Amino acid sequence: MTTLKLENLRKEYGDVVAVKGLDLSIRDGEFLVIVGPSGCGKSTTLRLLAGLETVTDGAIWMDDREVTNTEPKDRNVAMVFQNYALYPHMTGRRNITFGMNSSGSYSDEEIDRRVAEAADTLDITDLLDRKPQAMSGGERQRVALGRAIVRDPDAFLMDEPLSNLDAKLRIQMRAELARLHAEFNTTTVYVTHDQTEAMTLGERVVVMNDGEIMQVDPPQTLYDYPKNRFVAEFIGDPAMNMLDVVVEHDFAVHEAFRLPLHREEADGSGVDLGTTRDAVLGIRPEDLYLAAERPDLGKTEFTARVDVTEPLGDNLLVHCSVGDDLFKMQAAPRSSLEPGGTVSVTYDPARLHLFDPETGDAFYHSTESVSSDESVERATTD
Ligand code: ADP
Repeated sequence: MTTLKLENLRKEYGDVVAVKGLDLSIRDGEFLVIVGPSGCGKSTTLRLLAGLETVTDGAIWMDDREVTNTEPKDRNVAMVFQNYALYPHMTGRRNITFGMNSSGSYSDEEIDRRVAEAADTLDITDLLDRKPQAMSGGERQRVALGRAIVRDPDAFLMDEPLSNLDAKLRIQMRAELARLHAEFNTTTVYVTHDQTEAMTLGERVVVMNDGEIMQVDPPQTLYDYPKNRFVAEFIGDPAMNMLDVVVEHDFAVHEAFRLPLHREEADGSGVDLGTTRDAVLGIRPEDLYLAAERPDLGKTEFTARVDVTEPLGDNLLVHCSVGDDLFKMQAAPRSSLEPGGTVSVTYDPARLHLFDPETGDAFYHSTESVSSDESVERATTD
C-alpha cells in the first residue's frame, strides 16, 4: 500500500525554475503518467520523487512518511530509465541483482527465487547469463525492468523507458507494461513526451507545461474536456483545429460559417456565452466530415478549400482552408478530393470547444458523453 504526495514541490537550477510548485496525489496502485513537451519538468519531478535531486521547496510524502530529504535507497522506489542503465561488463543476472547482496536484506536463496520469478514473468530466463552487448534494445529494457521488479519496491518510477525502442517494439512493450501493472498493482509514475503512450497506459494523466500542471484526469476526460488550449492541442493526433471566431447570440461566427451553440451543456448546467465575445473555436479533425458522407448530422455546413490530401490508409487526412485559416479533417479513405477544389464540410455538434483567446482557458464544451460529473464541472467552471 503506497500513496505518493507532492506538496507545493519546487525545483530551481540557478535561474531556471524546472518545477513550479506542484501539488499532486498519486493513489495506491495507480498507474499515473506525466506527459508534456521536452523541458517541461517531467524528469525533474520524477527525479525529485526518487530522491536523485534535492528539493528547493515543498514536500514529498510516501503514505504518511515525509521523504523530502530521505536518501534514495531509503525510499524503496525502483527507477527504470530510457537508456536502461545496465552495467556493460555484467551479465543480465548480475545487473538484476547488483547491490542486493550487500544490502543484507536478502538471503542468497531469496535472491535466486526472486530472479527466477522475475525472469519468468518477463520471459528473460535465457538472457540471465548474457551481457548487455549481446542483447537487443528490447531485451535490455526487459532486464532493466527485471532489476526493478526483484526489489519488490513500493513504487516504480519510469522515465521514458520505451523511447529508445523502435515503433513496433514500443507498442509490444507498452502492452507488456500494462500487463505487469495489472499483475503487480504497484504504484507507478511514468514519464513520457508521447501523448499516445500517455493515453494508452495512464489510469490518470498529468499534462505538464513549463514546470506547471495543466490538468490531471483520466485519458478520455483529457480528450473530451481539455481545460485549456494547451491540453486540447497536446492531446490528440492530428491536433485539434483552432479557429478565431466571435460568439454572437449563441452562434460561433466565422466569415465562412455560423455554428449554433447550446446554452445548456451535457450535464444540464447553463453556460454564460455573453452577448458578444471573441473566442477560439476548437474542433478535432475527426469530428469534421464531408457533408456528403454524413447527411445525418443536420444541415449546418460550410464550404472550404482543399489544399492538400494525405492518404493514411484507414482514412484520408485533408488539409483545408476557410479564408486565411487552415484546418485539418478526416475523410473516408478513398474519397476523391482534388487540391484546389472545394468541399462541403459538416461537423459533430456535440464536439465543439470554445477557449478564451487571452487566457486559453476553456469556457464551453458541447460534448455529450459525460465521463464524470466532477470532470465536467471542473472543465467548465475553472
Ligand atoms: P523534461 O523531462 O520535461 O524534458 P526536465 O525536467 O529534464 O524536462 O527539465 C526541465 C527544465 O530544467 C529544463 O529547462 C532543463 O533545461 C532544466 N534542467 C534540468 N536538469 C537540469 C540541471 N541539472 N541543471 C540545469 N538545468 C536543468
